[in-house]
Amino acid sequence: MRAEALPVRRVRDGVITADLGLVGEGLEPYAPVTVEVRDGVVRRVEEGRERGGRSYDALLPAPFNAHVHAADWAFRHAGLGRPLERVVAPPDGLKHRLLREVDKGELEGAIAGFLAASLRFGCPGVADFREGGPEGVRLGLRAAGRVGFPEYVPMGRPGSWEPERLEGELRRLRAVTEFVGVPDVHLPGEALEAVRDSGLRVFVHVNESWRSVRECVREHGVTELERAVELLEPDGVVHCVVLTGRDEELLRELDPLVVLCPRSNEYFELGVPEVERLRGLRLALGTDNGMCVEPDVWEEARYAWLRLGMRPVDALRAATVTPARFFGLPVLEEGERLRAVGLKGVPALDRVAGEGLNRVVAHLLQVVKLARVEVLLGEGG
Ligand SMILES: [Zn+2]
Repeated sequence: MRAEALPVRRVRDGVITADLGLVGEGLEPYAPVTVEVRDGVVRRVEEGRERGGRSYDALLPAPFNAHVHAADWAFRHAGLGRPLERVVAPPDGLKHRLLREVDKGELEGAIAGFLAASLRFGCPGVADFREGGPEGVRLGLRAAGRVGFPEYVPMGRPGSWEPERLEGELRRLRAVTEFVGVPDVHLPGEALEAVRDSGLRVFVHVNESWRSVRECVREHGVTELERAVELLEPDGVVHCVVLTGRDEELLRELDPLVVLCPRSNEYFELGVPEVERLRGLRLALGTDNGMCVEPDVWEEARYAWLRLGMRPVDALRAATVTPARFFGLPVLEEGERLRAVGLKGVPALDRVAGEGLNRVVAHLLQVVKLARVEVLLGEGG
């Protein structure tokens, strides 16, 4: 696997033009657009097209895939047709048994292959729930280095939840990542509190199905989301397919990044999140298990629009600028490091240019797969 075969272009200085650019956090349409880059930083964004420079049909903020399990790429569709718990629940779900069987080299290769696929879809950034303790995180980082993956954010998981080992595991995780990814809140309260107090930023799976929420209520007297807020104070929550009224209130009070993975939810026949109830929250999209869903965050956005009823522009925002802001990455704007995707060969763009932003974005989300995608990243400075 060779990094130079992947569609990433590093830009130090130059002018980029496109028939259409979606600029800033508001995705404001400039048609056409000229972007001047100096020392890797966007110095100027203007409506109009200058001569020369690199030219595209459309220039969009680069996507960020806010929740994946990259290593599962090793077991594509191994859980097809089986219920979620049997496939992913630690410690004895199918994927955990398979993870124990494969050697480290094979896992590293699977993660590298997953990340290369993500780049081919035009996505230079993922947040990866990485199992296997600090060593698991290192393995992910090595895989990312192998394919030159630009923005790999590993969310480590303690290698052991045993009370006497947990603190040491969390300390070692802190040496290799800023984030911890907690598989669920059915763990003992003391373990969750130790995670909260670890100094790591916490992401956690919650409220993926009524079944697991009811189990939590039976065991602990509260929903998964309530337990997460009470004991973990997470920076990010993943799934939220089902919500009680109280869950909804807590989300508004805490205001975490809410990562939706609708294709994964449907794969396991769990239904999909109700976006109406999440309005006004910071929403991001993730493709979740590499076992089941390919890392195509454009497709996730298209799905969020057509299946969840998000407006196309909100779905694009959830795939791009919202997670970029959360993870401290630039958007396409003056004064920020270049981070964008250029699309060439977009069919029929002239048919929607000048129409409302939602029509333009709806079109782009559907035809992006026909376009040649280049990830454009500023370098230098
Ligand atoms: Zn997940």
